[in-house]
Amino acid sequence: MELTGRDITIIGAGIGGLTAALALRARGAEVRILEQADAIREVGAGIQVSPNGLRVIEALGLGEGFRAISVVGRAVSLREARGREVLRLDLTRLPAEQSYRFVHRADLVDLLAGQARAAGIRVRLLQKVREVMPGTPPRVALCNGDATGAELVIGADGLHSVLRPVLNGKADPFFTGQVAWRAVVPNTVGHPPEARVHMGPGRHMVSYPLRGGDQVNVVAVEERRGWVEESWSHQDAGDNLRAAFAGFGGMVPGLLAGADQPGLWGLFRHPVARVWHGAGVVLLGDAAHPTLPFLAQGANMAMEDAWVLADALSEAPDMASALACYQHRRRDRVVRVIEAANGNAWKYHLRNPLVRGVAHLGLGVVGRLAPG
Ligand code: FAD
Repeated sequence: MELTGRDITIIGAGIGGLTAALALRARGAEVRILEQADAIREVGAGIQVSPNGLRVIEALGLGEGFRAISVVGRAVSLREARGREVLRLDLTRLPAEQSYRFVHRADLVDLLAGQARAAGIRVRLLQKVREVMPGTPPRVALCNGDATGAELVIGADGLHSVLRPVLNGKADPFFTGQVAWRAVVPNTVGHPPEARVHMGPGRHMVSYPLRGGDQVNVVAVEERRGWVEESWSHQDAGDNLRAAFAGFGGMVPGLLAGADQPGLWGLFRHPVARVWHGAGVVLLGDAAHPTLPFLAQGANMAMEDAWVLADALSEAPDMASALACYQHRRRDRVVRVIEAANGNAWKYHLRNPLVRGVAHLGLGVVGRLAPG
């Protein structure tokens, strides 16, 4: 299908929406993004970009810019609570063009948004979408009363997507019994350029350096009985996080000493959407498949989706077959990745250290994809 001049609206200027916009614009489409926020910004935290995500970034022509803002990961190191290493995945053996990298989300979003502006993509802020109506053409209703149409509407609107329930009905996520703190702390401990997973009974913590190694990203997960809301807006006292990991050694106490007011949220498991597309509409990224952060693949999968969607649209003879082809190429892979992420949590939290070490021998396989 010729994409030049096609009128495409994307809901959401997150990593998925911006990547899709760039991939479609590069093929000549006229792209507009509707973003509910008053600025394109990301909450301060890191993400791990594995070789699959890096390939998309490179294909967008952003490889050099991305290398400048990211840290190359040399290893993934799984450690006992006291600090002893139990398994090491050596990432230096990856070919140079496939490096595994750590980046501040805000820096990645800035890179994508800067390129979007340069490419003439119109990003309209303070445009909260209320409803999407599939059709020929599809329609979008905004909370401010405006309405707009396009040839294709892409729902890249994240976890609480307005398009997903239109195609799939209401989802029924369930609380996994785990909560996660997230913080970016100064690197006062000399954290090396590797991802460390510090594992203990019923809890684990992931740390890796950001921004030339000046900062460290920390995500700490603890099993809990109950939680109410799936949101990032909760802040917790640093002392609660430190108390939860009081028995941990190695770099953990030093890292957590710098964690003031970490974010805290409950981890919910969502089914992968069964239907990803309808007449003139399609889902992408977390809107189609929210994932737990135990394989560090949510943003990487969103970038893969974006690239494959643009590819399917330009290759297929018409819109309907392009969207069907996109779902066909993506859904099974995403399901497999999410199942692997779901499986990691229990391995990290096993109570017997010996069994924990053995369980992770299987990580070598998963590790080829993206450990985290
Ligand atoms: P989002 O980033 O959620 O973007 C959605 C956008 O849509 C937002 O800008 C939002 O404001 C906008 N929006 C929403 N609703 C509307 C509306 N109605 N109208 C207009 N705009 C709207 N992934 C990795 O690959 N590697 C990692 O290391 C990693 N670590 C993670 C650590 C944590 C703690 C968490 C929580 C996630 C992590 N992820 C990681 C997952 C990753 O962050 C997400 O999968 C990814 O950001 C999804 O991108 P997205 O563009 O689909 O959605």
